[in-house]
Amino acid sequence: MIEMFDVWKTYPNGVNALQAINIKINKGEFVYVVGPSGAGKSTFIKLMYREERPTKGQIFLNGFNVEKLKERQIPQIRRNIGVVFQDYRLLPNLTAYENVSFAMEVIEAPKKLIRKRVPEVLELVGLKEKMNAMPNQLSGGEQQRVALARALVNSPSVIIADEPTGNLDPDTSWEIMDLFEKINFRGTTIVMATHNKEIVNKLRKRVIAIENGSVVRDQQRGEYGYES
Ligand code: ADP
Ligand code: ADP
Repeated sequence: MIEMFDVWKTYPNGVNALQAINIKINKGEFVYVVGPSGAGKSTFIKLMYREERPTKGQIFLNGFNVEKLKERQIPQIRRNIGVVFQDYRLLPNLTAYENVSFAMEVIEAPKKLIRKRVPEVLELVGLKEKMNAMPNQLSGGEQQRVALARALVNSPSVIIADEPTGNLDPDTSWEIMDLFEKINFRGTTIVMATHNKEIVNKLRKRVIAIENGSVVRDQQRGEYGYES
């Protein structure tokens, strides 16, 4: 479902962030992306949601070559990928409900479907009671639940997460991981860059380790493999 063939990324300033990446992630997998700071993890996942473009190589998402998409096909691809960030990135002037419904309005979903779907997804993440709260009235964990609901609301096949527990305390991090697992059990592919050694070593999943822009390890039920 996500495939990279000989993918390279050099930033305009000349930094070689990734080289010769070949990877295949199947539908329904749960994958951690680990490695030291500056290794290329964020670049790797930004290529997946087309935030960055490869300097060389091919990337396929659900069989489509993402580099060869027509302009009008790009929204279609974006809708198929939900993205979650370390810093939540909610719109501060919208309620929890509105942050989620906005993602459906952007793709011009029918109003009736929005009114049905948004409460369902907020319920899935355990935040239905707080749907009228503003982001600054919510804890970090609650804000991340809203962000996860927003990522899920258009039923993407993949959720990409860049350090989703990076700003959360350990208990809250585990609650968020429970949610990711629940979403994965329902069939959504998860690709998660993380520095959370405890989580990776307890909640065993496929581990792809990147160092100096190369994949140096790819293990099923792998371990974190670094000291911190
Ligand atoms: P990680 O997520 O593993 O910390 P990144 O993918 O963020 O690694 O960065 C990989 C390398 O690319 C680093 O050397 C970083 O400084 C560089 N880099 C990342 N983003 C940019 C950018 N927009 N412009 C130039 N260099 C960048
Ligand atoms: P349903 O029988 O409608 O799936 P659930 O209580 O199981 O009822 O799910 C609640 C809502 O969460 C539904 O709208 C469902 O479509 C949505 N949902 C369930 N799993 C996922 C998933 N993996 N990704 C996105 N949305 C999901």
